[in-house]
Amino acid sequence: MPNCQKCGQQWSWSQTLKVNFKLDGMECPNCGEKQYVTSKSKKKLNRISYLPAMLIILLLFDLSLQITIGFIIVGCILMIGFYPFLIELTSEDEGAF
Ligand SMILES: [Zn+2]
Repeated sequence: MPNCQKCGQQWSWSQTLKVNFKLDGMECPNCGEKQYVTSKSKKKLNRISYLPAMLIILLLFDLSLQITIGFIIVGCILMIGFYPFLIELTSEDEGAF
């Protein structure tokens, strides 16, 4: 999990997940300094967002629709679970990549 670049406080999993969806950064719960996701970690996150989409390939195999949808849901859950581990914080907004 990432640390605040200002005070060094480690963010919780849910805080880290939240900052990912806030494009204009999020205030550190400890010191109030705005923190942003680094563009480097945004790129990493972008790459793993393709994983659930790739599971659609399973439709090519003769699996039932329920199993395929199940795999896609599990893929999404795993992806969201891993998201905060890939995030690094910065005090400066690096903008869109
Ligand atoms: Zn802080």
